[in-house]
Amino acid sequence: MTIVHFIGAGPGDAELITVKGARLLREADVIVYAGSLVDRELVRAYAPDAEVCDSASMTLEETTAVLAQAVADGKRAVRLHTGDPSIYGAIQEQMAELDRLGIGYAVVPGVTSAFAAAATLRQELTLPEVSQTVIITRLAGRTPVPEREKLSEIAKIGATLVIYLSVSMVEQVVAELLQGAYTPATPVAVVAKASWHDEQTVEGTLADIAGKVREAEIGKQAIILVGDVLKARREGLASKSLLYDRSFSHEFRKGIVT
Ligand code: SAH
Repeated sequence: MTIVHFIGAGPGDAELITVKGARLLREADVIVYAGSLVDRELVRAYAPDAEVCDSASMTLEETTAVLAQAVADGKRAVRLHTGDPSIYGAIQEQMAELDRLGIGYAVVPGVTSAFAAAATLRQELTLPEVSQTVIITRLAGRTPVPEREKLSEIAKIGATLVIYLSVSMVEQVVAELLQGAYTPATPVAVVAKASWHDEQTVEGTLADIAGKVREAEIGKQAIILVGDVLKARREGLASKSLLYDRSFSHEFRKGIVT
């Protein structure tokens, strides 16, 4: 049976799509993708002959109609999303439409920009005794955020934060974070266009990051990373993980007690 594949294209670099995603793209007859975020070169590299629609100017009804028509014609249809489709991808509503039409679908995950940004910085997001929790969040924009998830509320936890869709409101991000567990000295990094050839990184603290972001003229496609894990990289590690510690025993290794 022909189904629609929702595929995560990854953060930008054409090699950061999964092997499965790349195969399905190569086999695709019809591709609907967000031209504002997914690199057209990536689409062209994998599917030079496919019929391609840019969803940027289309409505949900229109993208669904293209995918449904492709399936009806026995064509292989792909809906390509930036990063991973499950993060701010608006795929649930698309899948609900396909359910309504009785059309099958599957999702192929991708590398979300949080992880591309961490890779650019060569940064682990979960360090022992610093933070073992990563929160993916955003400021409310035209899409509202539930009251209990306001950034000032989330900030009370003090975990590593990865903030999407908010760099244009960086002053508000800073103001809300300072209402929580973070201080003006808390380190922040902003990575724009992570994994693209023109990626850009700005590092600072909550005290100065807003100015630095404005000065660098960072575009919309950027991730804000916040938390003391960044400090550990800048200033040296406070503690190492147990996993590779000489004295730590686990299923695969007996520790040495000295
Ligand atoms: N599904 C995507 C997110 C879509 S929402 C994913 O998993 O990454 C769009 C937001 O993603 C942007 O506002 C920006 O915050 C972030 N983003 C997407 N690509 C990015 C990249 N290459 N570098 C930094 N941030 C990126």
